Amino acid sequence: MTNKYIYFVANWKMFGKLKTLNSINKVMSFVKKFKKNKLKLIYCPPATLISPLNDKLKSTIIQIGAQNCHESDSYGANTGQINSSMLKAVGARYVILGHSENRQLGENDNLINLKIKNSIKSGLKIIFCIGESLSQKKNKQTKRILSKQIDRGLKKVVNKKKIIIAYEPIWAIGSGLTPKNSEILEIVKFIKGKVRGSKVLYGGSVNNQNINVLKKINNVDGFLVGGASQNSNNFVDIIRKTFN
Ligand code: PEP
Repeated sequence: MTNKYIYFVANWKMFGKLKTLNSINKVMSFVKKFKKNKLKLIYCPPATLISPLNDKLKSTIIQIGAQNCHESDSYGANTGQINSSMLKAVGARYVILGHSENRQLGENDNLINLKIKNSIKSGLKIIFCIGESLSQKKNKQTKRILSKQIDRGLKKVVNKKKIIIAYEPIWAIGSGLTPKNSEILEIVKFIKGKVRGSKVLYGGSVNNQNINVLKKINNVDGFLVGGASQNSNNFVDIIRKTFN
């Protein structure tokens, strides 16, 4: 990987209580030796932990993101929902949008587009997830699907600098499977060709074993790590091995 920064985004999913935050101490002391311009480390805990994590991470290089938000940037009668400006107010700098686990719950490209535009308005950067299913991959539809997700998700988004794209094949998430390096290389090139100047991450079953292989993909700007980021030893291992 020859990029200026390497991003590591920890997507904790539905995991963690206040006391779980103690486990991040290991990561905090490990990253002390890194300068901001080498490593971009972003923790995306559940919304319940954003504020306490923000307190904990003050004066570190680690930043915080949320895992999703409501599409509106104003208050409303939306029981159980949180909007992007509320997330910003408690310390989030990023938000993950378009994650396949939320697409599977019914989020479509138009809704994701609205979320992206309003989250940018609120001052957040976007980690925009796209990816194909296994049957789409088998039918050689990957680029067509990604193209559609990008075109619709980023429709009328002017400030593309606020967008980091995470290529996450649905079949790779939580499965222990990953595409071949050559496949990721080709897809990242394709995405960067479509969205000029964009940073592109790979996500899907990244762990402390396969990172030695995945880190060789030289056009990837970093990794979105789900399950393996919930264990700080594993997560530190992933970061250490990437830089070794
Ligand atoms: C994710 O949920 O974004 C993800 C990449 O998960 P995992 O690493 O567990 O496959």
